[in-house]
Amino acid sequence: MPSETIKLTAKFKLKTEPEGLEELFSLYQEIVNFLITYAFENNITSFYRLKKEAYKSLRKEYPDLPSHYIYTACQMATSIYKSYRKRKRRGKANGKPIFKKQVIMLDDHLFKLNLEGGFIKLSTPSGRLELEFYPAKHHGKFRNWKVGQAWLVKNPKGVFLHVVFSREVEVGEPKAVVGVDLNENNVTISLPNGEFIQIITHEREIRTGYFLKRRRIQKKIKTGKKRRELLEKYGERERNRLNDLYHKLANKIVELTEKYGCIALEDLTNIRDSVRYSAELNGRLHRWSFRKLQSIIEYKAKLKGLRVVFVNPARTSSLCPICGGKIVPNGHRVLKCSNCGFEADRDVVGSWNIRLKALKMWGVPVPPESPPMKTGGGKPTRYEINTLHTLYG
Ligand SMILES: [Zn+2]
Repeated sequence: MPSETIKLTAKFKLKTEPEGLEELFSLYQEIVNFLITYAFENNITSFYRLKKEAYKSLRKEYPDLPSHYIYTACQMATSIYKSYRKRKRRGKANGKPIFKKQVIMLDDHLFKLNLEGGFIKLSTPSGRLELEFYPAKHHGKFRNWKVGQAWLVKNPKGVFLHVVFSREVEVGEPKAVVGVDLNENNVTISLPNGEFIQIITHEREIRTGYFLKRRRIQKKIKTGKKRRELLEKYGERERNRLNDLYHKLANKIVELTEKYGCIALEDLTNIRDSVRYSAELNGRLHRWSFRKLQSIIEYKAKLKGLRVVFVNPARTSSLCPICGGKIVPNGHRVLKCSNCGFEADRDVVGSWNIRLKALKMWGVPVPPESPPMKTGGGKPTRYEINTLHTLYG
């Protein structure tokens, strides 16, 4: 069976900042900045070349520092310099690139994670340090995952370790495809048996609620630390709330589609060019949300052995899924085909076309879709996200 790799990043918050860590942060920053300057002056974008040319002198200057810090610093410097070059070409950067953050990149020689014990061991110039972190429920799921790169990050909220975990999963041969259309206020699912399920998410209400809350704060408190703190607090609450919603939604989508073996989603890489989304989102809903929800659906699906495919989103809401004719709006959220007269909810059309596109991608001949669709008016079965558990157990 073919296998795929799933990668997920988890955050661990350290209980205390041990002595010596502050110095390590500034030492590392110094080294990365030295390397960035070197890369900048000699126009080096290759990690291997940078390491080859700078390693010896750095080793001599910092003899107590475990050598892998120099390797990871070279990696960070190369990627910072590369992204600086990209921004510069677009006219968005000038001067010299500088690394100002308190971030240390770690590889598997520099740290060992002990999930059960709740600590990491970190190699430092003064020997091995044991750093305890706050346990969290979701850490448990990574028990059998492979530990990859990690980053130590210091910000006003404390010191965190971000760890990339990976795992191989076996992906089965799909029996059929399910099309999933993500919208601001609903998710519409097109099943292979011709049924449509729509989950009402109320995401817009949540966002509007927080939007109004933030505006009230901005009106009441004009400036200062208090204002910033309050805005940040509600921003975080909104993100947490949406995150919870996305996990719940993704679980439901995977549950509904599991027996078919494959989920098709829209490829939103070039979402900037998609008029449909920008018009619909009205600037308030960020593209971030879609990608976030998609990535949660993707890894949860893969963990269950489902295949996930991405289709080109072009014209998924302007072509008739039955005859391929042009469809135009005909009332509130309803689309009608100017060729064959087919009429349906626009989200039904979207999810249906996504499913058809995935089938075509595989070279599966798409049969003319069944006529009952016409008489049913393409009405989906609607469920509320909050009551869905009572319907599906
Ligand atoms: Zn038609």
